[in-house]
Amino acid sequence: MFADLHLHTNFSDGTYTPEELASHGKRHGLAAMALTDHDTVEGCARMGVACESQEIEFLSGTELTAEVNGNELHLLGYCVDLENKKLLTEVARFQAVRQNRIREMVVRLNKMNVPLQAEAVFKIANCRSPGRPHVARALVQAGFCSSLDEAFERYLKANRPGWVPKCKMSAFDAIALVHQAGGAVVMAHPGLNRTDDVIPELVQAGLDGIECFHSKHSASTSRYYLEIAEHHHLLVTGGSDCHGMNKGKPLIGSVKIPYQHVEKLKERAAEWKAGAVRTQPVS
Ligand code: AMP
Ligand code: FE
Ligand code: FE
Ligand code: ZN
Repeated sequence: MFADLHLHTNFSDGTYTPEELASHGKRHGLAAMALTDHDTVEGCARMGVACESQEIEFLSGTELTAEVNGNELHLLGYCVDLENKKLLTEVARFQAVRQNRIREMVVRLNKMNVPLQAEAVFKIANCRSPGRPHVARALVQAGFCSSLDEAFERYLKANRPGWVPKCKMSAFDAIALVHQAGGAVVMAHPGLNRTDDVIPELVQAGLDGIECFHSKHSASTSRYYLEIAEHHHLLVTGGSDCHGMNKGKPLIGSVKIPYQHVEKLKERAAEWKAGAVRTQPVS
């Protein structure tokens, strides 16, 4: 039995609906799937229903955009209570920040003589948690760029003229936020963010796991993080980070982790739900 614990839908910057994602999961023989849309849990209710109808186990989730010492990192929150007030309030605040950022990016593009309108981006995004991929799609649709890659290369990548830095949650606040919502916290794709030096501090703050397996991790990167996980007694997770058709080819099916990792993750979340105050083992 295998799982994919890192997936996006059109509730953030993925292109699949929850129903489409669940049916692709079935096709790839997944026994369990977690939805981890950026700064939202809005798609989880529908994804839960869609997975049930495909006889796939569903884990609620979100991918929080966080920072530590000015460096961006993504924290995955799993098995969170979808009704948790504090979690819903905080993600709503970051969704408003994302929407304002879209407006700012459009202002910058307009100054570059690219007359894109914010409304065109919001219409394409059609969700509360819009991001740069939606701006890229709007640029392509309006004929200002010929591909999503070109949109990122010319305008949207860090330090390009249309780029606006994102206001992020402190990683320590994000960890506490997920725990109080009854979830377990996992550092996403560490091989992409390379914030390894802060892992000990995050472990002290209660980080539960590390995403060792990811579609952009090489075998040696995965091995490297498996060692780090073992050293700090962290849980191991993994997922494809599929965004649907966003990046040309859907990534679902490219990363499948053994079901035993799902069991451990659920056990840890159950401990947080029971109000456990974990003391971190000394490593
Ligand atoms: P944002 O959260 O608005 O900063 O956008 C980040 C998202 O943009 C990531 O989750 C990726 O899905 C996507 N992304 C980042 N860089 C690129 C790129 N060069 N080409 C295509 N998509 C990208
Ligand atoms: Fe994304
Ligand atoms: Fe990410
Ligand atoms: Zn992701």
